[in-house]
Amino acid sequence: MAGFFYRIIYLWKVEIAKNKRDIRAFTKEQLRSFFETQGDKAFRGNQVYEWLWQKSAHTFEDMTNISKETRQMLEDNFVINHIKVDQMQRSSDGTIKNAVRLHDDLIVESVLIPTKTRTTACVSSQVGCSLDCKFCATSRLKRMRNLNPDEIYDQVVAIDNESRLYFNRPLSNIVFMGMGEPLMNYNNVIKAIDKITSPEGLGMSPKRIIVSTSGVPKMIRKMADEQVKFKLAVSLHSAIDEIRTSIMPFNATFTLADLREALEYWYLKTKSRITYEYVVWDGINDKQKDVNALVDFCRFAPSKVNLIEYNPIDDGEFQQAKNAAIEMYVKTLEQNGITVTVRRSRGKDIDAACGQLANKS
Ligand code: SAH
Repeated sequence: MAGFFYRIIYLWKVEIAKNKRDIRAFTKEQLRSFFETQGDKAFRGNQVYEWLWQKSAHTFEDMTNISKETRQMLEDNFVINHIKVDQMQRSSDGTIKNAVRLHDDLIVESVLIPTKTRTTACVSSQVGCSLDCKFCATSRLKRMRNLNPDEIYDQVVAIDNESRLYFNRPLSNIVFMGMGEPLMNYNNVIKAIDKITSPEGLGMSPKRIIVSTSGVPKMIRKMADEQVKFKLAVSLHSAIDEIRTSIMPFNATFTLADLREALEYWYLKTKSRITYEYVVWDGINDKQKDVNALVDFCRFAPSKVNLIEYNPIDDGEFQQAKNAAIEMYVKTLEQNGITVTVRRSRGKDIDAACGQLANKS
């Protein structure tokens, strides 16, 4: 009975919240004009903005230098849709995975990856994913919705706090390699990065941020035109159309030729090196012809290839290639002057590694 009662209260709250606007969708300028139209000082907008973004206020009550009447007026008109870390799991290698509950009760995951010298946040950009990579657990969830800029930003703040708490240092790097395809939620990702890099947000250098994409040519061109300052990683996995389409079906629409043209344009405009994420699978892309195609594909610009370990997600349709195949890749890439690293996975025991984020909870 009590459960039923709380459910009614909850639904009622959700109904009210629906009619109010999310105050964190407002820019500082918009908040300033809002207060002016209320006959108040524009400066009040700065104060509220500071509470929301620098002091991470979760309620209007928290805004103690704002008068009670103004706080009530805000309460009547707006909501603060903050995220909540529902569950935090720690891996034996120090990796932390957060299950993050959003205001509408959907859940995304974000990961803190510590090394000796850095702490990296791996954040989500969508609930589920728009794409259909066969080897990725997230692709099994349909894309439910895009994350808002503040929901992306909040994941970063939560990990920054955890980094300070558990490792006594602030967050140093961010990768958009969690759930979702960041270039299919481009505007919100850009807004979140603006906040992360602005002095009023976290003041982080864009050079410490990597946006990882499966390769959406149109959006790569847009990023190049906008001269973005963060780094680009492309999840390639095969430089042969037929193979890539069989493991990443959207490649039938965004073909390797289109992707390559967009990347050439990116390099022309930004002069920024491109990183390729690449898993070598047994019997899929583990032959000399595969690595030769990769060398051809990335010859046009300074490139780095990260050979990432496969994190099994299912019944064994995909298997990590034998060491000899990985060695062949490393040798051939190095002989052709392409930087290559072999990456070990982190956080596997808690399903926090690449491609394992699938909302188990
Ligand atoms: N959609 C973006 C970002 C999310 S995926 C992208 O595709 O880049 C982050 C990285 O994990 C990508 O390089 C992806 O190809 C890789 N990945 C997905 N599933 C994996 C798995 N099971 N094992 C290892 N890497 C995986």
